[in-house]
Amino acid sequence: MSTKITEKTWSSDIEKGILESWERENIYEIENNGVENNNYYVIDTPPPYPSGKPWHIGAAAHYSQIDMIARVARSNGFRVIFPIGIDRNGIPVEIYTEKKYKIRMRNMDRKEFLKLCQQTLDETEKEFIEILKSLGISANFKETFHTDSIEYRTLTQSTFIEMWKNGLIYLGDRPNNYCIDCGTTIADSEIAYIDMETKLVFIKFFLNESKDHIIIATTRPELLFACQAVIVNPEDERYKKIQGKNLDIPIFNRKVKIIQHPYADPNFGTGAVMVCSFGDLNDVQLFRELKLKEIKSINATGKTTEHAKQFSNLSPKQARTKIIEELTNQELVIKIETISHRTPICERSKTPIEIISLEDYYLKQIDFKPKLLEYSKKVKFYPEMHRQILINWINSIAIDWPISRRRFYGTEIPIWYCKKCKFPQVPEAGKYYRPWEEEPPFDKCQNCNNKYEFVGEERIFDTWMDSSITPLHITKFSKNDIFYNNAYPTTIRPQGKDIIRTWLYYTLLRCIYLTGQLPWKNAWIMGYGVDDKGEKMSKSKGNVIDPLPIINKYGADTFRFWSASEANLGYDFRCSEQKIINSQKFLSKLWNIGRFISNFELIDEENKPQKLNTTDKWILAELDDISRKSINGYNELNFFIPSNTIREFTWNIFAAHYIELVKSRLYNEIDNEERKSALFTIHKCFKTILLLLEPICPFITYELWTKVYLNKKIIEEKRFPKTDNEFHEMTLLTNKLIKFNSEIWNKKKETISDTTKKPLSLKDPIKSIIPNELELFSNDLIAMHNIIQDFSNYNTQI
Ligand SMILES: [Zn+2]
Ligand SMILES: [Zn+2]
Repeated sequence: MSTKITEKTWSSDIEKGILESWERENIYEIENNGVENNNYYVIDTPPPYPSGKPWHIGAAAHYSQIDMIARVARSNGFRVIFPIGIDRNGIPVEIYTEKKYKIRMRNMDRKEFLKLCQQTLDETEKEFIEILKSLGISANFKETFHTDSIEYRTLTQSTFIEMWKNGLIYLGDRPNNYCIDCGTTIADSEIAYIDMETKLVFIKFFLNESKDHIIIATTRPELLFACQAVIVNPEDERYKKIQGKNLDIPIFNRKVKIIQHPYADPNFGTGAVMVCSFGDLNDVQLFRELKLKEIKSINATGKTTEHAKQFSNLSPKQARTKIIEELTNQELVIKIETISHRTPICERSKTPIEIISLEDYYLKQIDFKPKLLEYSKKVKFYPEMHRQILINWINSIAIDWPISRRRFYGTEIPIWYCKKCKFPQVPEAGKYYRPWEEEPPFDKCQNCNNKYEFVGEERIFDTWMDSSITPLHITKFSKNDIFYNNAYPTTIRPQGKDIIRTWLYYTLLRCIYLTGQLPWKNAWIMGYGVDDKGEKMSKSKGNVIDPLPIINKYGADTFRFWSASEANLGYDFRCSEQKIINSQKFLSKLWNIGRFISNFELIDEENKPQKLNTTDKWILAELDDISRKSINGYNELNFFIPSNTIREFTWNIFAAHYIELVKSRLYNEIDNEERKSALFTIHKCFKTILLLLEPICPFITYELWTKVYLNKKIIEEKRFPKTDNEFHEMTLLTNKLIKFNSEIWNKKKETISDTTKKPLSLKDPIKSIIPNELELFSNDLIAMHNIIQDFSNYNTQI
């Protein structure tokens, strides 16, 4: 007998007790050290970044769905390796720590600053892990890894040393994107574009030693002193005569040539364009092409250089104001227009990007593009449409990846320089090095044999250098060969659409360099969570939804079910509390069904009756249909399909029609074959619903299974049900059956009883005729509706 369920409603409080018991029993831990096993399902889980900001509802939905991937794999019989890591390196924590303690990173002791960052991370990380656990994430929390641990940083450095030895890294002095606020070079992938209002200044330039002038419009007057040419379009009639002549640069008294170049747009400004080092990446291109000599305009601290003369040592903004002032004084400004300008900004600090020449380390990627395009075709994408984002990105890459950053909280670049000849030298792989505070592990220069005189590198790596090797870390690359050989390439990379060009791309690049193989066989890409009007959530719009209060109020399963039933694979999904409430209603319904079923003893396969009743055959046919549909949806990793399929069946067919049809047999006092058939079927349906729903709603399915099926844990039994239906053609009757039942219910509602003067109740008898095609169900239908077969108006030959 099953335990009768007494709790009237499913509540999120029950979830907390379940969580505790799961943790006590370690049900999701997997022994994965050195086990010979080819049956692994390895998830390259995205390590969340605890930057101190509250979590986005979309992120909570994202991790819930990644957990569904893990549970589906278990239901398909795999041994699931589901690690959890925390990404702790990089600029956001530095910025957050500076704000929190009201300090400036560069004005304090480096060690002290690193300690404060670590402290900040420890605090925010705790909250993170709590949220993940309360969502029912079935990951291996006991082995949570951190990208700033000695072990992880050793791997980052070791893999760098290996790439160095393979000639994939070089030091380059070249113009690159630079964020003044972050104080470092950044990669193209870290840049966002926004339309910003900016001033377009129209400046008079005199032709050399002449009273004639032309007008040049520019958005960067502060770079006037770094101008090395003026270009005009070859088709532009206005400038045909003066092509090749010299112009005087106002204020700075230098000559530059007027050069024809198709890049000059006759319709922008006046059609004549200053080429400065460097206004933007097009300038870099023009400097190269026209063989112009670079004038360094802005230094690494974000100030104008000595070339700016009286305007040196100013921020670009200050320099702009002062130079416009001076030009105005000299009556050289014709007009100033405000225009909207597509401006590259730093994704993190939102600062407009400068293009500055600095020495940085680069990892080669340009030469490798054709190979990468080939490899990216071998990954299976869920959904296929998002592969294109990766392909477009690879095609657009124009420069190698700058991997050095002038920041503090990150993995150190393991290099020492000879004091005498400046030769850079890397140590042996396999240890964690901090060159900014440690002596090198070698005593003489490989290049000039100079002894004991080295300077340690102070820079750190771009944080994607750490996170791009998660597949290597979780498969114990270079640590445990047996496990690595079984687990790598990993099975799947689940991640957001927004980090395809960074995390997905860099992982592909790094792991192929290091292993010659793809890091994963599959990539599962989720869309963004947007607000109920379909707009992106942002602080400034005030439409951000914090997931924690919602999870606390409605419970994790409600939240998870909402996430599954709302987000179609790869598409953006709308977040609204009303829809979450609708999910709660479904779970209440399921709980009530469970309570009802817990009243009846279990008849299982072994003691099922020889012959099943027709109504039971019909619902088993329906059950089989929706099982197949749900399992197919699961195997496509599209949880939208099973969630909606299971809800529709459970609520609108199983509960609304089937249970009503078999009640009289279930309550029959004689324990005959007909009753046994109903008992067998009702439990078979309920068990199947629970097994199918488990990946989405692990809490309520666990609780119902445990209660109704004598504490046999769902986790031990859980496999997707086999589908083998012999009664398939009976599903053709479903719509007719639903239609007939609805007609009877409506008729009762509309009929006023002679005795009570009220509409008939559902139990009241009613005169009706069961249609021929539903004849198979007639016994159950008569009992369900209390039908008195009325043939008085029936036109038959009989
Ligand atoms: Zn920045
Ligand atoms: Zn040397």
